[in-house]
Amino acid sequence: MAAPVRSGRGGALSYDAIVVGLGAMGSAVAHQLAKAGADVLGIDRFHPPHELGSTHGETRITRLAVGEGSRYVPFVKRSHELWREIERESGESLMTRTGGLVMAVEGAARCHGADDFLATTIAAAREHDVPHELLDPEAVRARYPALALTGRERTAYFEPDTGFVRPERAVAAQLRLAAAHGATLRTGERARTVGAGHVATDAAEYTAGRVIVAAGPWAGELLPEHRERFAVYRQVQFWFDVADDAAYERHRDTPIFIWQLGDAHDDFVYGFPPLDRRSGVKVASEQYATPTSAGARREVTADEARRMYDDYVRERLPGLTDRCLRATSCLYTVTAGHGFVVDDGDVLTVSACSGHGFKHSPAIGEAVAQLAATGRSTLDLSGFAAA
Ligand SMILES: Cc1cc2nc3c(=O)[nH]c(=O)nc-3n(C[C@H](O)[C@H](O)[C@H](O)COP(=O)(O)OP(=O)(O)OC[C@H]3O[C@@H](n4cnc5c(N)ncnc54)[C@H](O)[C@@H]3O)c2cc1C
Repeated sequence: MAAPVRSGRGGALSYDAIVVGLGAMGSAVAHQLAKAGADVLGIDRFHPPHELGSTHGETRITRLAVGEGSRYVPFVKRSHELWREIERESGESLMTRTGGLVMAVEGAARCHGADDFLATTIAAAREHDVPHELLDPEAVRARYPALALTGRERTAYFEPDTGFVRPERAVAAQLRLAAAHGATLRTGERARTVGAGHVATDAAEYTAGRVIVAAGPWAGELLPEHRERFAVYRQVQFWFDVADDAAYERHRDTPIFIWQLGDAHDDFVYGFPPLDRRSGVKVASEQYATPTSAGARREVTADEARRMYDDYVRERLPGLTDRCLRATSCLYTVTAGHGFVVDDGDVLTVSACSGHGFKHSPAIGEAVAQLAATGRSTLDLSGFAAA
């Protein structure tokens, strides 16, 4: 890419590329662009990593055979390579392998855009040679007594390479690496308008060869042409205390689980092994009944924690108490089909990861950086065009 030019149109500061929004997607794009030698400006209205968008709460699941569809598998496979590369370059520990179970009762509803999430997971594993085991409910009960099955579960999918990634650390590490490769990062600065080669913030005007917008739940506000495509939903992550040492050990030895419990779209629970004896077990569900906006209420009420415990924890995860140690809300930006949007228009839009984007973020970042720099990418992004 060209050498830095600091005077653009009308005296605006000029860069090869400007990335607006430095969360999961934007930090990955900025890192990969800067690493490839581009002169990059990254802008964020807050100070990432922060707790106001979609990329916080200690852990995110990463699984290779993704139930959202096998077209995503090359992205998560590449992401696993990139997480290890970023770990080596940054010295941060980011990805932990725990194994993971996908379970569903008979008649489970459509989930994350897949008619049958469990069957799609198994098909993706077979198509992409992902090591896995199929476990009948008796085997799940015997191996993982922390999970009290309903009695209606089908044969479950177990993947040994499933694990979690630490989202806040990942964003911080990629921003540090971007800066080390020469990127300019301006945080606490809000983009007011974006257009082809142009960004105006509340502090300055900038020009660039390419403008990339990764504004997460704010994308609809910044990009009116996409507003109708994106719906924002507030989701809550809860950490419940374990009853005693024995319960802690049972949960520590249980893999990540995704468990469809009924025939409603949002009738499922997922959870993680505890990070340590005092952290509690993180569990969450999803809701699509009440759309909101990026201005959604962030605080979580005691009533919400009580409902989560009553609906999903009390009977299904009996080693956990009703003591909710922590809860945080977080926003999904969702398209009608629960897919992604990577749209190469006047601005390159990277958004609407529909609640399953984090695991793919470094590979999406790498592909978007390639697309911005050369017009082509190694992994095919064309399936995510907005049209
Ligand atoms: C509760 C929850 C659980 C999830 N679990 C998983 C999981 O287990 N596995 C998985 O793969 N995915 C998961 N996801 C999805 C994943 O976390 C998201 O897809 C991903 O983090 C989205 O990242 P983003 O970069 O699009 O948005 P964000 O990280 O929110 O980044 C957007 C950034 O843009 C900035 N911004 C916005 N507007 C402006 C502006 N005008 N000017 C400047 N900056 C601006 C914001 O400050 C923000 O930093 C989960 C999401 C949630 C909410």
